[in-house]
Amino acid sequence: MSANTDWLQRSRQAVWHPCTQMKRHEREPLLPIARGDGPWLIDYNGRRYLDAVSSWWVNLFGHNHPRMKAAITDQLGRIEHVMLAGLTHAPVVELSERLGALTGLGHACYGSDGASATEIALKMSAHYWRNAGRPGKSRFIGLAGGYHGETVGALSVTDIPLFREAYAPLLRLSATVPSPDARTAAPGETAADVAHRAADALAAHLAEHHESIAAFILEPLVQCAAGFVMHDPAYLQRVRELCDRHQVHLILDEIAVGFGRTGSLFAHQQAGIRPDFLCLSKGLTGGYLPLSCVLTTDAVYAAFYDDQTARGFLHSHSYTGNPLACRAALEVLDIFRDEDVLARNAATARKLDERLAPLRAHPAVRHARHIGMIWAFDIDVPNAAAFSARLHRQALARGLLLRPIGATLYLMPPYALDDAALDHLAAGTLAALDAALTDVSMPAAGDLPLP
Ligand SMILES: *Cc1c(COP(=O)(O)O)cnc(C)c1O
Repeated sequence: MSANTDWLQRSRQAVWHPCTQMKRHEREPLLPIARGDGPWLIDYNGRRYLDAVSSWWVNLFGHNHPRMKAAITDQLGRIEHVMLAGLTHAPVVELSERLGALTGLGHACYGSDGASATEIALKMSAHYWRNAGRPGKSRFIGLAGGYHGETVGALSVTDIPLFREAYAPLLRLSATVPSPDARTAAPGETAADVAHRAADALAAHLAEHHESIAAFILEPLVQCAAGFVMHDPAYLQRVRELCDRHQVHLILDEIAVGFGRTGSLFAHQQAGIRPDFLCLSKGLTGGYLPLSCVLTTDAVYAAFYDDQTARGFLHSHSYTGNPLACRAALEVLDIFRDEDVLARNAATARKLDERLAPLRAHPAVRHARHIGMIWAFDIDVPNAAAFSARLHRQALARGLLLRPIGATLYLMPPYALDDAALDHLAAGTLAALDAALTDVSMPAAGDLPLP
C-alpha cells in the first residue's frame, strides 16, 4: 500500500469534502498532498503536480513561500489572535490603512471567508438604507450566472442552479439581469456592444424597481464560477452611472479577481470606477490563511456612526481581523510593492500565451479568452460533465491539477512560474485535452461539473 492510499481511505471515512458528491470517491481517488513548493503540489509518494488552479483560486506567489512563512512566523511570536471588539492590533490597523489607500475605500470590516464578506456587504447595504429612512430598499440584484458564496444569504445572490435548487425554500431569491458575456456577441458586434446591451437591460430593471433595491452585486470583468465568463470594462462604467442615478449601491465582488489576477491590482480599476462596497478574500492572504474584508466609503460609514447602538453595524465573527491572517495580507501587499508583481506577471502571461497558441488553434476549442493571469477555453463536446471528469484525470496522470467547469477548461496558475513550469503547464494541458477527447473509454467516475 502506498503512503498515499492510507490517507485517502481515512479521509473518505472521516472527512466530508467540500462541493463533492462523496460517492464519487468510491472509484475516483482523492489526492493526498504532503507538501508544496512554489507552483507545485507534492504527494506522499513524492509525485509532483502543477497547481494550475491555485488551490481553488487562493494562491498567488506559490506554496511554501519564504517571505510569507517568515511574516506569519514572526507574528506567531507576538500575538496569534485577540478579539477585535474593544481591542485592536497593529496588523489590522496597518492592513486597513493600506487597503484604504489602494482603493479609496477607507473603512474595512473583516470576516473569514468570501461568503462572509458577501453577507457583510449585503447586510451593510440594507442597513444603510434603513438608517437613511428608506427601509423599503432591501432587495438585491445580481448578474445571470453570478457566484458570491454559499451561505444562505450569499446563495440568495448566487445564480448557479445546481448550488441553489436544494435550498430554494430557505432563500429570499434576488432578481438577475443579463450577463454582459462577451461570447454572446453577434457577428460584427464587439464586446463593448454586448456590454452596452446588458447595461440597457439593467437600466430598464432599475427604472422599474429601484425603490425596492438596496444594491447590485457583481464580479467585475470575470464571472469565474460561471465558467470564466468575461466582459468589457465599459459595462462597469455604465453600471456605476446607473447605480448613481437610481440610488442603488454597487457591490463589487473581487474575491476571485482581486490582487492582480486580471492584470491590475483590482479588476474595477480597469474601468476607472469606485464601488460602494468591495469584497476581498482568497488572494488577500496569498492563499495562506482564511481572511475576508469588505471595504466601504465614508458615506456608508457615516450612516452608522451614532449615539444609538442599534444604528451601528452589529455583525461579528470570532476570528474577525485575525492578526496572523492580517500579517499574511500585509506581506502580500509588500511583495506586490517590492517585486513589481504586475509587470512580472505581464511578462509571464505573454510567455504562457505563446505556449498556448496550439490550444487556441485546436479544432475543438471555442471562445479562447485571456485576461491577466487567467485563460479559459470552451471545448466542443457532447457530454460536458463526463468530459471534464476525463480531462481532470488525464491531467493528473501528467502531473497537472486542472478542474474544468463543465466544458470550460481554465488555467489560473500561481504567479510564480519559471520556464520549466510554463512548458509543463502548456504541454500538459494540450496533451491532457487530446487524451480526454480521444480516450472516451476512461471511466467517468462520477461527473465533475463543479468549479
Ligand atoms: C470563492 C468566491 C466566493 C466565496 O468565497 P468562500 O471563501 O469560498 O466563501 C465569493 N465570490 C466569488 C467571486 C468567489 O469566487
